[in-house]
Amino acid sequence: MPSHTDPDPHGFRRRGVLFVLSSPSGAGKSTIARMLLEAEPALGMSVSATTRPMREGEVDGRDYHFVDLEHFRAMVAEDAFLEWAHVFDHRYGTPKAPVYDMLGSGQDVLFDIDWQGAQQLFQIAGGDVVRVFILPPSMEELHRRLSRRATDAEEVIAGRMNRAASEVSHWDGYDYVLVNDDVQHCFEQVRTILAAERLKRSRQTGMIGLIRRLMKTG
Ligand code: 5GP
Repeated sequence: MPSHTDPDPHGFRRRGVLFVLSSPSGAGKSTIARMLLEAEPALGMSVSATTRPMREGEVDGRDYHFVDLEHFRAMVAEDAFLEWAHVFDHRYGTPKAPVYDMLGSGQDVLFDIDWQGAQQLFQIAGGDVVRVFILPPSMEELHRRLSRRATDAEEVIAGRMNRAASEVSHWDGYDYVLVNDDVQHCFEQVRTILAAERLKRSRQTGMIGLIRRLMKTG
């Protein structure tokens, strides 16, 4: 993974954060991701490719790159994905090039991917990856949120409820686990995690010059 220059007030270079947000579908992760992107100009979004049909209100290239199976398979064959997985009945993958471009240009990168993607990314990029899992406050609330969204048919919602239980079982593959019972509070917690992770010693590769100078003054 390329490291990059962080536009922090001291101008230190540091390694980029690969910030993963996962949750059962409907736990509010997309809203949190949107709030985070608005608040954090030095954070870019990884837009996945998927073979699932576009939902009402979604925009190709913004929410996903909507591709057919043939196109997706060609991308796999070209090694164009950092990771990819089957989720529900479709394939989802993280295109490699934009992630490298964002890291290279000084941005941290946000990923809205499932536990399989989080696991694969961690295998590739290890300590550069921060994995955050967002839980709904209850299964009843999750069902309410999925129904309110009303973009999916009832059988799709039922399928997603079943999947939610198995997704939650992967909570131990994450660095942080939060409950989204208040979206503003949850957003603030996620933002705090990002801020702390940016300051981690292992990322401060550019601070060594200052540290050496400070050690000499004693
Ligand atoms: P949805 O169809 O509701 O947009 O997404 C379904 C699930 O697929 C979500 O849990 C989402 O995080 C996950 N997902 C989206 N893009 C990717 C990706 O590129 N890789 C993986 N592994 N999961 C993804």
